[in-house]
Amino acid sequence: MALIVQKYGGTSVGNPERISAVAVKVARARAAGHDLVVVVSAMSGETDRLIKLAKSLHPDPPARELDVLLATGEQTTIALLSMALERQGVPARSYTGHQVHIRTDNVHGKARILDIDDKRVRDDLKKGRVVVIAGFQGVDEEGDITTLGRGGSDTTAVAMAAALNADECQIYTDVDGVYTTDPRIVPTARRLDRITDEEMLEMASLGAKVLQIRSVEFAGKYKVPLRVLSSFEDGPGTLITYEENQMEAPLISGIAFNRDEAKLTIRGVPDRPGIAAQILGEVGKANINVDMIVQNVGADGSTDFTFTVHRTDYAKALDILRQVAQALKAREVSGDDKIVKISVVGVGMRSHAGIASTMFKALADEGINIQMISTSEIKISVVVDEKYLELGVRALHDAFGLDRAPAGQNKRKFEQASR
Ligand code: ADP
Ligand code: ASP
Ligand code: MG
Repeated sequence: MALIVQKYGGTSVGNPERISAVAVKVARARAAGHDLVVVVSAMSGETDRLIKLAKSLHPDPPARELDVLLATGEQTTIALLSMALERQGVPARSYTGHQVHIRTDNVHGKARILDIDDKRVRDDLKKGRVVVIAGFQGVDEEGDITTLGRGGSDTTAVAMAAALNADECQIYTDVDGVYTTDPRIVPTARRLDRITDEEMLEMASLGAKVLQIRSVEFAGKYKVPLRVLSSFEDGPGTLITYEENQMEAPLISGIAFNRDEAKLTIRGVPDRPGIAAQILGEVGKANINVDMIVQNVGADGSTDFTFTVHRTDYAKALDILRQVAQALKAREVSGDDKIVKISVVGVGMRSHAGIASTMFKALADEGINIQMISTSEIKISVVVDEKYLELGVRALHDAFGLDRAPAGQNKRKFEQASR
């Protein structure tokens, strides 16, 4: 008998029929003798609908009140699923984040889970109940409702699994696992049987929204056995692994992309110590996260500086940069919010050369101009015009032999390419 935490995403609980289907799945797992904690998201589209509703009354809704509103999405689903379970003859109890003491910090809209008091959950499990918990929400020290950021139910599930020391955390969604890239963009993308937590973290950070970044961080920290599966069909899904020895790892595991970026450039700033700190300091003070940064080689005592931010921060960042430019007597400020970031990810990069050149050549062959480049140990990212997103992702998927193919072939294909 195992203790399993299951999480069902928005599409998986999108209507009453699907909620019933989830209840049947949960009932089956319980009949197999397992203890079950089920975390659910709001029904698909509900969180977006609530955000729109809030914005119809206030252009920038107060964060505390927005969290009170958004938490209702998940509260609806826990009640409905518990009813559906009872209908199946399965004793079930629904709980909001507050009721099971999912304690977070007070950063409304992107709160972090601090701890979970699992007593109530364990008591219910002992009584043979299935425990149904609202994802995406918690409670801060003041007793105020908080939410964990978009996709946050994944993190609730993983944190719950860590707190309960569960045997497995199963993330049920509308794809049957983690793919080499978003299967909606590249139909020939391949499901991965396993992916290391490190790679999954990069994939999530670089835009693959199949798991929320924080859920992967959490899983890695507490070594939670984590699997991504389809809620619509049976299958092995994708296992997130914590292997140290990655000799057998493929060179490239996947391609991620992010449409949410914008870039800003300030030209002709003095080329002296402290300038980068001054420019980025002002941006940071406005709570804007900077992603990629490039500074040009200086000439004639001045230099250019380009960085990317989240698209929603673009207008604000441009404003700040114009002010900085005035103060620094910089030559000009420009920006572009029609860009995307495409990244290749793989732990195999550590031990193999030639990946960057394969990547750049594949893009060049399609006539795609690279605007910015950044690298880390296990990823290479480029910024390109947004109109090239699909073409670029497909070209890279192809260049690294990631298409559906018999096992082993990918590796061989790329090893030839890298020589
Ligand atoms: P849920 O509502 O179940 O949380 P999400 O929409 O948050 O589901 O995440 C699942 C989606 O993630 C898929 O439908 C798919 O389009 C997208 N996705 C992006 N990158 C990947 C990838 N590498 N592998 C699988 N799915 C991906
Ligand atoms: N309902 C929230 C969202 O749409 C949380 C989640 O689905 O994980 O982002
Ligand atoms: Mg999600």
